[in-house]
Amino acid sequence: MYIVSACLVGVNCKYNGDNNKESRILDYLKDKSYVPICPEQLGGLTTPRNPVEIVGDKFLDAKGTEFTKQFKKGAEESLKIVKLMDTIDGIILKEGSPSCGVNKIYDGTFTNQKINGMGCTAKLLTDNNYQVFSEKELLEKIE
Ligand code: SF4
Repeated sequence: MYIVSACLVGVNCKYNGDNNKESRILDYLKDKSYVPICPEQLGGLTTPRNPVEIVGDKFLDAKGTEFTKQFKKGAEESLKIVKLMDTIDGIILKEGSPSCGVNKIYDGTFTNQKINGMGCTAKLLTDNNYQVFSEKELLEKIE
């Protein structure tokens, strides 16, 4: 079983109500079983919602409203789903997101700058010994 960020397979769960559909990921998964997850929705956030960045140890929108609790809950709920699977063949997460980012996140200044870092769901899964890949890493591997 594969776990994939829902926005990558076309679910409109992105903060702005859109998606990050990646047809090459869909192609890769077309003969495989997979479960799409959106940690931010699992954490109780609405779509659309304000974009959030990680600032220190908090998850804030540009106005400073805090959503740390929802992001942490989304990570916990995602981990529960992963643990429900008998086998995990791969976990593919959307790079750059404060939840799903595997290698990069936004720097907390809301100026579109990325830094090295992990989103909280990617980190929690990694801390629980699951290997996570960004969509970019998977595409580099298969192309
Ligand atoms: Fe996509 Fe993950 Fe953001 Fe949900 S939380 S919209 S799955 S990147």
